[in-house]
Amino acid sequence: MHYAHQRVKNVQKTEQLKTIVKQKGLNYVGTRGPTSSPIWFIGEAPGADEDQQGVPFVGASGRELGRMIQEVSLTESDCCFTNPYKIKPPDNKLDRIHELGIPQQLFIDQFFEELNDYKPTFIIALGATPLGILCPFTIPKRKNAHAEISKYRGSLLCSPSLSHPHYVVPAYHPAYLFRDWSERQNDVLCLAKVREEYDYWKSHNNTLQPLPQRRLIAEPAADDAIDFLNNILQSPTETVVSIDIENIGRYKGKDKTAKRNRVPYVIGFSIDPLEGISIGLGEYDQTQAIKIWKMVDNVLRLKKQVYQNGTTHDIPWLSYIGFSPNLGLCEDTLVMHSTLWPELSHKLDFLTFQYTREVYYKDEASGWSVKDRQRMKRYNIKDVCVTLECYYAMKKEFLNRG
Ligand code: URA
Repeated sequence: MHYAHQRVKNVQKTEQLKTIVKQKGLNYVGTRGPTSSPIWFIGEAPGADEDQQGVPFVGASGRELGRMIQEVSLTESDCCFTNPYKIKPPDNKLDRIHELGIPQQLFIDQFFEELNDYKPTFIIALGATPLGILCPFTIPKRKNAHAEISKYRGSLLCSPSLSHPHYVVPAYHPAYLFRDWSERQNDVLCLAKVREEYDYWKSHNNTLQPLPQRRLIAEPAADDAIDFLNNILQSPTETVVSIDIENIGRYKGKDKTAKRNRVPYVIGFSIDPLEGISIGLGEYDQTQAIKIWKMVDNVLRLKKQVYQNGTTHDIPWLSYIGFSPNLGLCEDTLVMHSTLWPELSHKLDFLTFQYTREVYYKDEASGWSVKDRQRMKRYNIKDVCVTLECYYAMKKEFLNRG
């Protein structure tokens, strides 16, 4: 009885919107596919083909989306498709939808009513419009800014407006791919991620795979730093240490190795992708600092190391402050990735997207202050943990390719 009441209550906005749309002589384009599906694809607004047929994603974008869905071995007819805006905007321009005289908020309320009613588990936000509606925290605080789809695509996000268990997975809208075909492979990668999460969910009694919980040791006392470094030094010979140095201050001119206004600030270490430490270079008393610097020197001389862009960044900086990293023991994920995937971006945010389940975090250190040092350090640790995770994934790829 209670359930029946809920259903009636929950379709209120939908009925209201449908009535207004009909009164105005427009076409209401609702959902396509089973609404009970755990996988929902969310676009922006119907185009001409959709308007004509009253069904979402039946035009060129829909067909391209269908091909990508097939490529990751999902079944299109098992998925549900819809849009936050259920009518075609004039000239297909969303910023002109107000001309049709329907309050914008009604579309949004109806959209959330629908999602809260059917509770899809995997919500693929195709483009900045649905991403911004579902996850407003992806919109930068600038005026008229759009959700940062290029940063968040492939991340496993949660919408603050939905309380049931779900992941929002952003991907480029298929219409965008017609303008930049090189992004298509990344969209397929996003859908492959959805596929993997879906497989996990199915094989775990409809439970979502939790996000990685990393232990970030961001403000270690000297003894903690010493213990951590001791652990590294005593680890087996084959153990690989992920290392990343962060500098503070501004670069002057184009020469990134210029020492002028820039000083090394922290070094991050990790030998387990789920745990890392960030050690401040100027934070301990002299006796402790001497001990720590000697241990760091030993790590750099004796242990196998991996860096992201160590070749042109970390290693020159470590050498500049007097360390001697043993180049024969150093590997670089940027170089590894250039060899494996020459056509792709080799930046750490891309590697994170390709190889890990870590949510986009590359802006987390921006705007940090000395009073809020932890922020910079947490970022430093995420970098080393993620680099190590990518390193292991690429090692496997090298092995698989013989
Ligand atoms: N583009 C969208 O955003 N939605 C559709 O339904 C079709 C094209």
